[in-house]
Amino acid sequence: MVNQGAVAGAMVEGKRLVTVIPGDGIGPECVAAAQRIIEATGAPLAWEVRQAGASVFRQGLASGVPRETIESIQRTRVALKGPLETPVGFGEKSANVTLRKLFETYGNIRPVRELPGVPTPYSGRGIDLVVVRENVEDLYAGIEHMQTPGVAQCLKLISRKGCEKIVRLAFEFTRSEGRKTIHCATKSNIMKLTEGLLKSTFEEIAPEYPEIEAQHIIIDNCAHQLVKKPEQFDVIVTTNMNGDIISDLTSALVGGLGFAPSANLGSDVAIFEAVHGSAPKYAGKDVINPTAVIMSAVMMLRHLGLFTEAGQIEHAVLVTLEAGVLPRDVAGVTQPAATSVFTDAVIANLGKQSATWKPRTYQPIKMPLQPIPTDTVRPASRRVIGADVFVEFAGTPDELGHSLEGLVQDSGVRLKMVSNRGTKVYPSVGAMTDVVDHWRCRFVTPDDQGELSDQTLLDLVGRVAAKHRWMHLEKLQEFDGAAGYTRAQGED
Ligand code: NAP
Repeated sequence: MVNQGAVAGAMVEGKRLVTVIPGDGIGPECVAAAQRIIEATGAPLAWEVRQAGASVFRQGLASGVPRETIESIQRTRVALKGPLETPVGFGEKSANVTLRKLFETYGNIRPVRELPGVPTPYSGRGIDLVVVRENVEDLYAGIEHMQTPGVAQCLKLISRKGCEKIVRLAFEFTRSEGRKTIHCATKSNIMKLTEGLLKSTFEEIAPEYPEIEAQHIIIDNCAHQLVKKPEQFDVIVTTNMNGDIISDLTSALVGGLGFAPSANLGSDVAIFEAVHGSAPKYAGKDVINPTAVIMSAVMMLRHLGLFTEAGQIEHAVLVTLEAGVLPRDVAGVTQPAATSVFTDAVIANLGKQSATWKPRTYQPIKMPLQPIPTDTVRPASRRVIGADVFVEFAGTPDELGHSLEGLVQDSGVRLKMVSNRGTKVYPSVGAMTDVVDHWRCRFVTPDDQGELSDQTLLDLVGRVAAKHRWMHLEKLQEFDGAAGYTRAQGED
């Protein structure tokens, strides 16, 4: 698990100050349970309670994260947080994602391990794996546009710098826990440039960690293998969306979301929270499983160097489960323990040791502290060889293609092809595409030589706009001779 070693933060009367965000739905019950247990260990922590999420959205703050909360985390550098909701009709951005992005907590560590006393179809197979999820890029950059009234786009942004940070964090994490293997899980077979960037960065950095076995796996097969033979995995590093989905899956392998903790780590700030959401139907009923937040708090204690207290709580939770004090979400439980009863039992078990649990030897994670420059990749040569102009049009591919060819006659470009939702439809290759009113029109240099100037591109847009509604232009670039764009299905 996580221990970044000493991290600068605020102290109050000799106690380390922690920002606490109770959150929404079941959040306040889970967070209060974790606080009570930490207090019972005597850990030298003081709480600064701040708000975020539904209550803040309802007060009219569109971000869901007030200034006082941001300032508190800036001071304390560490937060224990309950799940946050974005209520329908208020705000449009998730307050969770906002917090992760504001503090650049770029790595999300999500461990799952078979728990004694919690029966699952996988019991006895020794599942003990960690998903390291990139936390701030990918589709979660949240850059979306309605490009036509009926066609929406979400930009999947993946940077070389972001890949390097998450890959280095994953290797350092693996080393810190004495783990042996990492799988990099991507969809690089389809998204060669975006998902492919994580794969190629992983393959470049892996040789720096010769003691760790590193291999790539396609994310869909990873999901399949996780259900079929989860014990083969140790650490999985992956992009944001993939990680979001497979970490819910991995939590189910050991008993469900009620047992899945996580840490959002950045170079300056760490935010600890359960993988689960606010489960609003259970809010205030004293029926939910607080283990995920309690174990997130254990990760936080290790992060703060409070290993004794972390170990005490971990063992007390395990002893409680082994004794059959089980929350409602454990399969087959006939007399479920209320949240408060479970919490009391953990407190009563502080100081006891689980007979079955082999604790790890935790070492500090060396976070990649070296600043990586903004322009990580500096090609020796680059060239603009064309442009994709995206157009809204309600006719047929041939009507659009002929019209565009007429418009760019005697200009500095030629129409190479038109695609619809990624499939080439003009000139026809015989595809039976069910077209929509959103077209990518690919223009290139007339003889495939030389470079297109901005002036030529602006002239191109002017010509297209004379007859068609356009909404977007994307330059086609080559870097060191390699195409910085992909071809359409059916394009040569
Ligand atoms: P969810 O709140 O995680 O709940 C999904 C289901 O998981 C629940 O219905 C329940 O299953 C089970 N569950 C979750 N936490 C549990 C616990 N502590 N103890 C026992 N069972 C638990 O997911 P959701 O319903 O999709 O999302 C609800 C809201 O939370 C949404 O507004 C979402 O945006 C937000 N959310 C926030 C975060 C975050 O703050 N990091 C993360 C995810 C979602 P059963 O119904 O089978 O009992």
